[in-house]
Amino acid sequence: MKNRALALLLCLALLASLAGCFRIVPKAPEAAPAAEPAPAEAETEPVSPAQPAEPEEPAETVTSPAEPETPAEAGGPEETEEPAEPETPPEEAGPRYFREVWHGDVDFSALSYEHYDAARFDALTEPVYSLARGGGDAEDFAAADEALRTELIYIYTLRTLASLSFSADPSDDEAYEEYSYTQDLFNAAWDEYQQAMHTLAVSPHAGLLGTRYEAEIIDSFAAYEDDDGAMTALLKEKNELIQDYYRELAKSRPDYDEIGRIYVKLVEKAKVYARSAGYENAAEYSYEALYSRDYTPADSEAVWAAVKQYIVPLMQDYSYGAWQSAERLSRARDLDCSPEAILAVMEKHLPSLSPELYTAFRYMLDHGLCDLDYDEGKEETGYTTLLYSVNEPFIFNSPYGNFQDYTDTFHEFGHFSNYFYTESDLLFGLSDYDLSELQSQGLELLFTHYYPDIFGRRAEAAQQVLLMNMLYSLVDGGPFTTSSSSGSTPRRT
Ligand SMILES: [Zn+2]
Repeated sequence: MKNRALALLLCLALLASLAGCFRIVPKAPEAAPAAEPAPAEAETEPVSPAQPAEPEEPAETVTSPAEPETPAEAGGPEETEEPAEPETPPEEAGPRYFREVWHGDVDFSALSYEHYDAARFDALTEPVYSLARGGGDAEDFAAADEALRTELIYIYTLRTLASLSFSADPSDDEAYEEYSYTQDLFNAAWDEYQQAMHTLAVSPHAGLLGTRYEAEIIDSFAAYEDDDGAMTALLKEKNELIQDYYRELAKSRPDYDEIGRIYVKLVEKAKVYARSAGYENAAEYSYEALYSRDYTPADSEAVWAAVKQYIVPLMQDYSYGAWQSAERLSRARDLDCSPEAILAVMEKHLPSLSPELYTAFRYMLDHGLCDLDYDEGKEETGYTTLLYSVNEPFIFNSPYGNFQDYTDTFHEFGHFSNYFYTESDLLFGLSDYDLSELQSQGLELLFTHYYPDIFGRRAEAAQQVLLMNMLYSLVDGGPFTTSSSSGSTPRRT
């Protein structure tokens, strides 16, 4: 972490000299890999060019479009209890903005990881091939389809558990191997699932698909082309580079030259991957396949002109003062920035800010769904992910040990509550970074109301730094519309 602080200062100095403005604290604006692989979850993209939506690990998945069902009943890791209705604590009064969503009511500590044998998934595809050959009724197909989708969700949940273990200690060889293994496992299973559905979609018994899937998805099955694992292999190489990047970064003495070399390789790999997927460049691929944006990099250029005209001058005028404030806040010895202190502040203020958010907060604490502790060996990132089998979000954060951890935790909890109150569809849902950042950055801003209580005489300085970060996220968005952008930059989301 000390090294990171040094690197940050060097970066700030460089940025300041180049652009006359800089970001006060390192925080991920938008457009990352979380899903690309979500940085942390950097991106897992079981993909094929013809695919409707990427089962990405969006750190921030927001929707559930086409599928009527929820992955909830998936026999997730150690899921032993009956789905329980979310509780509504007595203190929760006032307007409700969210609908109730099923959660597994399982403590994180009760979830167990297993090294999954890919043959198990192979066997589950056989009934679909059998239906393609000889036909069957809707019930037969429902059973076969449900088993496959439940298993995909289970495998993905194992992958998420493996990624959390890797994030907790990237130097752990076993965690590294298992995370790689589960990424490949899920990507291969996703391919197999599509291959099986394709076989049915082009068979005389294709009508069975209509009992479980929308026409658009059936079309995508019919158009699916097996590439003999070519894309999956590219994805594997990309994912390994991302893991190597974080592994090197988490060392007590990171080799920054090596990190730079890995990053350059990652950019190159992202370009190759994007072109193989049929896109002009990585930015185009990311816009469409990862971020599900309905506007293009060219469309967004209209915004950048305004950013240049209005936001950049603001940053030039105020960034130095904000930087000084950040410096002072970072050195404040009397400011308790421990996870316990931050959670206590949330416990105190969330009930008045939003009873529904408080319900999600209590669920998080009661089920151990966050890892916020300081540890030099942790992956240097922060993200929120979803344990699909039990439909429970989880926050991972490697804190700095300073005031920034407050806003980072508020930010991630915004993502947590978004996951908590939505039904994210792993297989056919879309991830939308723009929308999900409303939840996270929006919560950061809402918490400024409590800054006098949280930061005391430093409240104004903390607010100044936060506002500068928000401005910076606008300025920082520009480079991600260019073709040189990798679309898979490891970053905090
Ligand atoms: Zn975020």
